[in-house]
Amino acid sequence: MRIYDDVQLDYCDVLLRPKRSTLASRSEVEIQRLYHFKWCPRTITATGIVSANMFTTGTFELARALQKQRLFSALHKHYSAEDLITFLRDNQKEFGSNELVFVSSGVSDADFEKLTQVMNTGLVQNICVDVANGYSPYLLNYIRKVRQMWPEVLLMAGNVVTGDMCEDLILNGADIVKVGIGPGSVCTTRKLTGVGRPQFSTVIECADAAHGTGGMICADGGCTVPGDVCKALCAGADFVMLGGMLAGHAESGGEMTEKSFQTGEVNLIDDKTCALKIEQKQYKKFYGMSSQYAQDQHYGGMKKYRASEGKVVEIPFRGPVEPTLLSILGGIRSCMTYIGAKNLKDMPKCATFYRVNRQLNTIFGNES
Ligand code: 5GP
Repeated sequence: MRIYDDVQLDYCDVLLRPKRSTLASRSEVEIQRLYHFKWCPRTITATGIVSANMFTTGTFELARALQKQRLFSALHKHYSAEDLITFLRDNQKEFGSNELVFVSSGVSDADFEKLTQVMNTGLVQNICVDVANGYSPYLLNYIRKVRQMWPEVLLMAGNVVTGDMCEDLILNGADIVKVGIGPGSVCTTRKLTGVGRPQFSTVIECADAAHGTGGMICADGGCTVPGDVCKALCAGADFVMLGGMLAGHAESGGEMTEKSFQTGEVNLIDDKTCALKIEQKQYKKFYGMSSQYAQDQHYGGMKKYRASEGKVVEIPFRGPVEPTLLSILGGIRSCMTYIGAKNLKDMPKCATFYRVNRQLNTIFGNES
């Protein structure tokens, strides 16, 4: 039996060490990066945050909001080809191009057929192919097929957690490898299967392997606060994919519900009467794409041979996503000044981490 003895770390196990820096202010740092790719001949200037291609965060509405900040989105797989084409047409008019939008695909023949229908319009040039287990031969075969069919496309593929598989995917046609198995906020893969790898260590190993092969990585899942996004970028991620952090907003998908709560306070009506104070709160559903709920909603029920690898949560409604995006970008800017990184790409070069036992003071709770 082989056991890897190296300590495997998560974002919560480390903190960045501040450094003396010549940067006087946050306005001196550049959070947009010029991306050059291994296979795709185009360049893109943007910040490498990507909305997850989940039903709840891969929405057209979030894509619009993210593009306004020059951030990427991966649309979910459950839009029809017609809906995607209509969106891409309108989006091109609004933003001048669809260069920040990925269309997503699974690896079945039906997926390829739909992808072909969308790609034939020439409206979009970015594809995200993902399966829960990126070690499957179906993924490698599929990305070879996609690269052959559209040699100049920007291709992201995953998900894996080891350097060897990153290299394989890149050498077979991927520009960006999506890394992460089990770190997601609504993922239960680790509980159900015992498989996975702490995300910070995953990012370090995979970034090293991918960069050595001329490719890039997208750190997918496990970010809970802007500081985690900073840690991912410092660990070598070229892109960071977010689900939970973008869920629960006006632009996110998922059913809205309203609940009533007794606050414990009373309202005095007059000297003799009082009424219990009731508060209404709005919630939005957020769920894993392999959850029973998602299977029921989008795949006509869970197949007998499958088990749920995701859960359903209800998130207090957070309003428009823009303040959340600005706080993530503000966090990145501030992190860059702390570590003396003038450009996004310099972050790993400037970063040193402390391994920690505890990173937050929770005396007043975990909320910001
Ligand atoms: P988050 O940012 O919410 O922590 O993670 C988002 C990522 O979780 C997604 O991009 C996807 O890779 C992963 N994910 C989404 N749904 C599921 C699921 O049902 N099961 C598993 N194992 N992972 C999921």
